[in-house]
Amino acid sequence: MSKIRKELKSFMHGLKKRNPGEYEFHQAVEEVAESIMPWYLAHDDYRDAQILERLTEPDRIVIFRVTWETDNREIRANRGWRVQFNNALGPYKGGLRFHPTVDQSVLKFLGFEQIFKNSLTGLPMGGAKGGSNFNPKGKSDREVMRFCHSFMTELHRHIGEDVDIPAGDIGVGTREISYLFGQYMRVENRWTGVLTGKGSSFGGSAVRNEATGYGCVYFLEEMLSKHNEDIVGKKIVISGSGNVARFAAEKAIDKGAKVLTLSDSDGFIEAKSGMTEGMLNFAHELKEKKRGRISEMAKKYKSITFHKGKSPWGVKCDIAMPCATQNEIDEKEAQLLCSNNVLAICEGANMPVTTIATHIFNKNKILHAPGKAANAGGVAVSGLELSQNEMRLSWSHEEVDERLQKIMKDIHSRCVEYSDNSEIINYVDGANIAGFKKVADPLLAYGLV
Ligand code: NDP
Repeated sequence: MSKIRKELKSFMHGLKKRNPGEYEFHQAVEEVAESIMPWYLAHDDYRDAQILERLTEPDRIVIFRVTWETDNREIRANRGWRVQFNNALGPYKGGLRFHPTVDQSVLKFLGFEQIFKNSLTGLPMGGAKGGSNFNPKGKSDREVMRFCHSFMTELHRHIGEDVDIPAGDIGVGTREISYLFGQYMRVENRWTGVLTGKGSSFGGSAVRNEATGYGCVYFLEEMLSKHNEDIVGKKIVISGSGNVARFAAEKAIDKGAKVLTLSDSDGFIEAKSGMTEGMLNFAHELKEKKRGRISEMAKKYKSITFHKGKSPWGVKCDIAMPCATQNEIDEKEAQLLCSNNVLAICEGANMPVTTIATHIFNKNKILHAPGKAANAGGVAVSGLELSQNEMRLSWSHEEVDERLQKIMKDIHSRCVEYSDNSEIINYVDGANIAGFKKVADPLLAYGLV
């Protein structure tokens, strides 16, 4: 066994022992450790200071009870978390996820990824993530409001504009952020930009809603152009129909690509000749306002078919954009995509591709943009929202969009700079090494913190 494999094995053995049963967290750490280990071993200063070991231990995790009442006056108790992972580069920053699958392992994986993602944006933000096992699906607005208010009644003690600034994620959109922000203001008795993704009438930034999806397509364009390809006319398969998926689809269509699919946890819809702008507007309305199911698109449009209980990865395409959730693409799906000659995978979601699937893409020389690079546009515009709040001004749509494009271009360049520069850029390694180095330097400088 090579020295690198031996070190990796021993490091992962220790990590698994210290964090039993946290499989998503193990997976996220292993992906980073695999990429950086050769580089880490070659740098005695980082190694002597145990930077990797220190970076995989969160600064703290706050766990709390969230008691609320249903419309039928039944009492519910959910669990809330905030994982403040690392603030070497700036105040903690990362979303809140409300979904029944949320647990400590999921939030630790997301918080860990967030450190590297925020580092790649070049903005001064540390990594964090939080949320609850609360399921907003099927709940009335009033129920969601009572839950959010109760959640913030505890969380407000642990956050602040210079401490920790949460945002949205799965199950947490503008509605939830507004309720959370309202309660923060009430209990703290002050207006401050403590959450991002706020409504445009109260401190929200232009383009924040679109930023993750748009940013993903900007990154995809950079990646294609670096390999002498172009997005125009490319067939794109997208999973999910939430914030990230819909705005990725919108920008891709705008750029001349053909978006063939969207999905939710019930199945996927397929538009064989590509979705139109009108179809996408219907999807926005359906998901954002009516909180409906994606299958309803097949009822509205004859040219759309709904595939119940299926994921879209068997549809022949040039580009796959997983934009729903973690571990959507495993070995079987990766084989299927490769056998259909996919050109590139661009991750809108966080860790949607398993380790084994990543190895398959790598072996087959498929371009693969990891979420920590490709979906960093959301947090980048959150960073811009903070700057605007601090200066008490708001930039135009064009101005924010321009900054977003520049940030995505820079992230792409950082990934290229730290990859091994072979014929096909290894974006997974490039993103991990570039992200790690930027956090490791201040950690070295701070001494033993
Ligand atoms: P939304 O809640 O807006 O949408 C999530 C979508 O994914 C829905 O269509 C949902 O379907 C689907 N989905 C969720 N869980 C599953 C599952 N287990 N199986 C199948 N489908 C599922 O979330 P976002 O669009 O905001 O987030 C999507 C991904 O992007 C996440 O991984 C998130 O961490 C990541 N991300 C989000 C950012 C943001 O700015 N919002 C920033 C960076 C990353 P259904 O309605 O049926 O549950």
